[in-house]
Amino acid sequence: FVKERGRNGFEFFHPSIEEKSLERILLENELRKAMEHEHFHIDYQPKYELLTGKLVGAEALVRWNHPELGRIPPNKFIPIAEETGLIVPIGEWILRRACEQNRAWQAEGYAPFRVSVNLSVRQFFQPDLVERVREILEDTGLEPQWLELEITESIFAETDNAVPILQSIRDLGVHISIDDFGTGYSSFSYVKHLPVDTIKIDASFIRDVHMNKESQAIVRAILTIAQTLHLNVIAEGVEREEQLAFLHAEGCREGQGYLFSKPIPRQEIETLLKAAEA
Ligand code: C2E
Ligand code: MG
Ligand code: MG
Ligand code: MG
Repeated sequence: FVKERGRNGFEFFHPSIEEKSLERILLENELRKAMEHEHFHIDYQPKYELLTGKLVGAEALVRWNHPELGRIPPNKFIPIAEETGLIVPIGEWILRRACEQNRAWQAEGYAPFRVSVNLSVRQFFQPDLVERVREILEDTGLEPQWLELEITESIFAETDNAVPILQSIRDLGVHISIDDFGTGYSSFSYVKHLPVDTIKIDASFIRDVHMNKESQAIVRAILTIAQTLHLNVIAEGVEREEQLAFLHAEGCREGQGYLFSKPIPRQEIETLLKAAEA
């Protein structure tokens, strides 16, 4: 296969491009089936208060275990789900399941904690998003304060509409956090006017924060912004004691990462909740 490339002459299609689109078509079809048969499940990654070691919440992370293809990571299928629009029903299923689960934990007598759910840009711009969220809370009986939605900065680049939508979600009593903070936007200053509760410092700044001056400066700057704006702050991707030591010394309030726990199934969260009671 050759393709005309103007004055540079001809370029051969790289075979991997074809393979990739085949894989894509395959995954797209499989995603549809998985949605119909509810072949997804949710793992939960705990969030901890650094000062006390207290479990303060958990993030719902979707998992897809395909009968033949095995585990397919979210970074592989979420982008396809976003492009095809399948993220809307899948995302709604995740949100509903996470709310049901959190309500069930409360009904079983565990101390209430907040479960956060990732919301893709595509879901965010559904015209009836706020109504859907309200309805799911009502159906599941979960009080809004125990739900948090994680959004990325990219929504602010898409439209000016993001702020009023966020405001309406927050008016329900649902918490909002900005995921992957520091990676998606050229300036931090936009957070000043945002109706959000928490910023999540992106894992890329945490990865080398124990040994890199630039990452240290960025993390300190984010912590200062959070403090000044009275926002809660959590560090993502904490893997090492040295990183924890730095975050702790700089006054970061919460953390999430393999150092504390990987994302784990519902039953293992229950073990942690039981241990927290003892
Ligand atoms: P995210 O929301 O920023 O989630 C954090 C990702 O980092 C998760 O990967 C988590 O397993 C991983 N992680 C947590 N701690 C550590 C650590 O200490 N070290 C390392 N190396 N990784 C860590 P996961 O579950 O593969 O999800 C990847 C991304 O896919 C998420 O990034 C999120 O953007 C998206 N995603 C996952 N579940 C959902 C979902 O239910 N809905 C939507 N819309 N997106 C989702
Ligand atoms: Mg997240
Ligand atoms: Mg993140
Ligand atoms: Mg991410």
